[in-house]
Amino acid sequence: LVRQHATILMSSTTKTSAANSSHYILNNFQSQQRRNQTTIMDKGARRTSQQSGRNPGKTLQTGRSSLESSTSDTGLNVPPFNHPHCDRQAMYQQPVRKVKPVRGNYDYDLVVIGGGSGGLSCAKEAVAHGARVACLDFVKPTPLGTKWGVGGTCVNVGCIPKKLMHQAALLGEAVHEAAAYGWNVDDKIKPDWSKLVTAVQNHIKSVNWVTRVDLRDKKVEYINGLGSFVDSHTISAKLKGGERTITAQTFVIAVGGRPRYPNIPGAVEYGITSDDLFSLDHEPGKTLVVGAGYIGLECAGFLKGLGYEPTVMVRSIVLRGFDQQMANLVAAAMEERGIPFLRKTVPLSVEKQSDGRLLVKYENTETGEVDSDVFDTVLWAIGRKGLVDDLNLDNAGVLTHKDKIQVDCEETTNVPHIYAVGDIIYGKPELTPVAVLAGRLLARRLYADSELRMDYVDVATTVFTPLEYACVGLSEEDAIKLYGAEEIEVFHGYYKPTEFFIPQKSVRYCYVKAVAQRNGEQRVYGLHYLGPVAGEVIQGFAAALKSGLTIPTLMNTVGIHPTTAEEFTRLSITKRSGLDPTPASCCS
Ligand code: FAD
Repeated sequence: LVRQHATILMSSTTKTSAANSSHYILNNFQSQQRRNQTTIMDKGARRTSQQSGRNPGKTLQTGRSSLESSTSDTGLNVPPFNHPHCDRQAMYQQPVRKVKPVRGNYDYDLVVIGGGSGGLSCAKEAVAHGARVACLDFVKPTPLGTKWGVGGTCVNVGCIPKKLMHQAALLGEAVHEAAAYGWNVDDKIKPDWSKLVTAVQNHIKSVNWVTRVDLRDKKVEYINGLGSFVDSHTISAKLKGGERTITAQTFVIAVGGRPRYPNIPGAVEYGITSDDLFSLDHEPGKTLVVGAGYIGLECAGFLKGLGYEPTVMVRSIVLRGFDQQMANLVAAAMEERGIPFLRKTVPLSVEKQSDGRLLVKYENTETGEVDSDVFDTVLWAIGRKGLVDDLNLDNAGVLTHKDKIQVDCEETTNVPHIYAVGDIIYGKPELTPVAVLAGRLLARRLYADSELRMDYVDVATTVFTPLEYACVGLSEEDAIKLYGAEEIEVFHGYYKPTEFFIPQKSVRYCYVKAVAQRNGEQRVYGLHYLGPVAGEVIQGFAAALKSGLTIPTLMNTVGIHPTTAEEFTRLSITKRSGLDPTPASCCS
């Protein structure tokens, strides 16, 4: 052991030496193997330390939300997210509050406001455990007049239509690749926007229908009305032909969010958002996508794949909240495919020309230079706003924070019988599976004696750009912020997917990296993958990471060959070593 520590020390002080770096990796690997043999009896204790999280007192997040600040600014007695009690360690130590809802003289035990991912899962689970539940859902049309049915953002204007259009774009690419693989295909194939939109919308309508049937079968009362609080136990539902007052013991707010419009001339009149794009009744044509978050990049990606001409306008950075090395690779891979990025640029105005096209004036924020271009479509993807305005939360005494609702680690607002889940809660990943699980676990805690709380840490996610990016755990910069650069080791490598060779697809940006603890057991803090089928690749690793994955375990895992997922098991080069992370061959 002393010899190993000496080797580790030696290799960490002679940082640029490649030989020492591999020596370091090997020694840690051997030391881990030895540890594995000698600590079997100690397993229970180790597991507790793994479950307990990495750094009590700090809340870690990646993906579509950023590291949080350390204090609650509501000034209320609401434990903020990063209250130590909300950390993993505390989650396994603190008893869950036992606020078993008592059946009072109310219309329902539970009213869920919002029939999207979080609201529906909560409502259905609550009914399954004996509660009398109503679920309100109401969609206000977009300025263009687009509206949709029950199911929320994911089903109607989010994950599902987005993934279908992404798939349509990938298929176009695959047809061209097929020719290289010996298929006799017509190389003049082109997509039909109207057929695609019809197919996507038909699928959505079928999901809307199945959702309504499911709610009816499960005895959740679905109310197609806009809910707003009258007092903390009463809401008023604005229906198509009137109004209905409903009382409940408990409320769950799951109203999600909608896209923002910039405050510039012509933005609302002439621009559209993702809420309109998936049902647009004409081809988008040359499109300006304003915003380089995941929604903007995904839309630009599939529009390019479908043969249109997207341009991405970026105010500051690409994919804020994500690992920035990976974010820049994603953008570079898009630029390589012919998607221009207007960087450090903000839009000033949108005007409709006499030919119906849109003249956009914009400014470079660094040089102050003003320029303009003409587009067929302007798509705002500049962020989303929580739908708190219609709720009249003041009447119930629920506090908001930046268009969102702050909750504690049991999704309770500052009013004890009013909860919130999904995109409407402040500072958590805005993702469907997060909303679904949080809603379900909340219902179980309320009505089924469960003690399980939602764990918002290490949530895996994927950006469905033409070359997909998926990650779980910490970004490199967040790991460094948390532990210091000296305590972090980054293993990385470029790779060449076998299936890319024959059609001669660019492998330039196919890249993986593991962000890990430098010493000790070499715990993996974050995994990042840029390449095909990224979500499918990273999902399993997310479970491994949550279970305490270490670099030695990763290196001792036998890959499945030839896959791209196996690249994680082949990682051996550290950034610190300075070695070239480009592979010489695919198979050794
Ligand atoms: P929602 O699903 O938005 O549901 C809220 C519902 O409440 C809506 O129907 C709303 O109209 C209704 N409502 C609002 N106010 C009221 C009121 N006062 N009364 C009654 N009803 C009301 N997530 C992923 O995990 N993977 C992805 O790939 C992905 N892609 C996305 C792509 C796009 C373009 C977008 C926009 C989002 C994407 N998301 C993705 C995010 C995902 O859609 C959301 O995280 C998820 O839908 C949040 O669920 P929710 O229940 O919080 O809210």
